Amino acid sequence: MSDWYQLQAQEVLDKLGSDRLLGLSQSEVSRRQEKYGFNKLREKPSKNPALILWEQLIAPLVLLLLAAALISVFLGDYKEAVVILIVVILNALLGFIQEYRAEKAMAALKKLAVPTVRVKREGNWQEVSAPELVVGDIVILEVGNLVSADVRLLETANLRIQESILTGEAEPVNKYPYRLGGDLALSDHRNMAYMGTQVTYGRGQAVVTATGMNTELGKIATLLQRVSSQLTPLQRHLQKLGRDLLVAAVGLVIIIFVLGLWQGQGIKLMFLTGVSMAVAAVPESLPAVVTIALALGSQRMLKRGALIRKLPAVETLGSVTVICSDKTGTLTENRMTVNVMDVIGRRLNLTSYFTNTSSWLDSRLQQPSLLQDQPQLSLLLAGSALCNDATLEADSGQSYYFHVVGDPTEGALVMAAENLGLRKVELEKSFPRVAEIPFEAERKCMTTVHQMPSSPNDLSPLLKIAWQWHHNLGAMPYIAFTKGAVDGILGICSEVWVNSQPEPLTEVWKDWIRDTNNELAAKGTRVLGIAFKPHLSSHKDGDKNLEKDLIFIGLVGMSDPIRPEVKEAVQTCINAGIRPVMITGDHPLTARHIAQELGLSVEGHILTGQELSHLSTQEIAARTASTSVYARVTPEQKLQIVQAWQNCGEIVAMTGDGVNDAPALKKADIGIAMGITGTDVAKEASDMALLDDNFATIVTAVKE
Ligand code: ADP
Ligand code: MG
Repeated sequence: MSDWYQLQAQEVLDKLGSDRLLGLSQSEVSRRQEKYGFNKLREKPSKNPALILWEQLIAPLVLLLLAAALISVFLGDYKEAVVILIVVILNALLGFIQEYRAEKAMAALKKLAVPTVRVKREGNWQEVSAPELVVGDIVILEVGNLVSADVRLLETANLRIQESILTGEAEPVNKYPYRLGGDLALSDHRNMAYMGTQVTYGRGQAVVTATGMNTELGKIATLLQRVSSQLTPLQRHLQKLGRDLLVAAVGLVIIIFVLGLWQGQGIKLMFLTGVSMAVAAVPESLPAVVTIALALGSQRMLKRGALIRKLPAVETLGSVTVICSDKTGTLTENRMTVNVMDVIGRRLNLTSYFTNTSSWLDSRLQQPSLLQDQPQLSLLLAGSALCNDATLEADSGQSYYFHVVGDPTEGALVMAAENLGLRKVELEKSFPRVAEIPFEAERKCMTTVHQMPSSPNDLSPLLKIAWQWHHNLGAMPYIAFTKGAVDGILGICSEVWVNSQPEPLTEVWKDWIRDTNNELAAKGTRVLGIAFKPHLSSHKDGDKNLEKDLIFIGLVGMSDPIRPEVKEAVQTCINAGIRPVMITGDHPLTARHIAQELGLSVEGHILTGQELSHLSTQEIAARTASTSVYARVTPEQKLQIVQAWQNCGEIVAMTGDGVNDAPALKKADIGIAMGITGTDVAKEASDMALLDDNFATIVTAVKE
């Protein structure tokens, strides 16, 4: 039999009895689950109750007590023996109940931490938890996913996967859907992705070829099961205390025993006195008590929306002195709404037309007339909707209402386009996407290349004029749109679109655009710049030449309301002597406005990512204590920020959601992942996850 990587994608699908477009049927899934079991690695069995009880009974001090009881029996003192036995039983029972509850609580927490996967079944995309996957399922791989089973890739766009768990190679490898020949080592299976590896870039679709213990990871899983439950610092301290006490107690017991004999007391009495004193003095169940306290504490935190992933976090949380929080989505709601569009010579303010359009759309309220005779704005909006991975889905059972699926920033753009009569579905039909460079927080922009329609006939009237210009620019068969942070976009533009003509992007124009950007940002608006460029060829995915010599079209501004409860939480922090710190990829002025709204101190300087990369460690250290807001920061720089605060002697909590946030989350004393928007990779690296992505929940957990 040949391996999956040696077959064509279609052959793999045929062999697995699956269909690319429909996926498996629900009944087939159930049948396969029954036959092959769930997609789980065999785990170290949770401690069984008998074992827990046994461990209670063989604790050294209990053995000592039992010995005392036995001696009492020999000496004919049955009453004494019974009393000791009752003590032993009560002690064991208490210890058993505590440990058992702690184990149960931990198991429940673990279950909650299982990742979900987007899978196609019965022709629809749905989210299922990873253990429910079966061979033949069609799944989506996205940036930040942990691959949940072994899969053969069917389609990829810039897909890169980090496979160090299997190959030891830390550098992510490119993946493609093509058939491979020959006998290849696992690390060369470029058309496969394996369980436990991490998607660090791009996206793809794949079919599951192996699950559970049959995966490559499963085959070596015996090696991985040895992850022991580590003790928390408090538990370790208590264990040491227990040991020290034991030594002290034994010493004292010996002294008393000897003194008693010297005084002329009976050996039996002195022996029993000695033993009972030792038992009384040594807190042998202290570590167990701490475990139960932590486990129950974490259950209470869970009720308030904080999922503890690593038990020591419960302890550390209490001593946190600095909370570094992402702005977007944690301090704010991540409910983006486009409120202003600006092209050279025309600004359209949308707040007066649409309110609260971020999460749903009423198709009866569309206002296409606003774009009538506004070809520049039409082009701006069409570009925003095309260079975009968000989609609209009809609310079930409703014909007028739609909601966004995808990134809120992109969703807001699709909504705005839709509200103004540019439907994303139709746009994509007229301008099919042929290549792309995905958004990265480092570059702060993204690019897509689209095929031009050969004739303007099927285009909506709004786009006919745009097509005409494009034709005038040389009728090239492809058009690329780039959207992203304005400062970055300006750096890769060489022209600007003025009165339907490209003009050289002079310093005067640049100043004009920057001023507009600053003006909007100062009101707390998140601003994106949009640019385009006609192309002769379609280019390859990820081709860096695409982000060069662009023509700047204009700006889109969107608002994101702050979470109402955060203001109070910030105040609570400050009153408790905890320093709240905001981190964002947004413009410093946007950050300042939101910080002010939240009551964060903005007296100090707002440190930008650019400054961070130029300043020396000492210079950063000197500024840290007075900085509450970091702007235009890349995820990598979050690590630097954590370190700076730790160097100041602070105990730092840090939030994060993306793949690149993982190092900072690990470095922080408490790494906090977003439960909703967070990637699997970020969650893996974290000590705690916020089920509601809310800053206020961190504060509640610290309080707890
Ligand atoms: P934050 O940390 O506040 O979420 P991000 O790093 O996500 O900030 O975004 C930083 C900047 O990148 C934004 O101000 C915006 O200009 C730009 N940006 C954000 N999302 C996208 C996207 N999907 N496509 C293009 N540009 C984006
Ligand atoms: Mg973001």
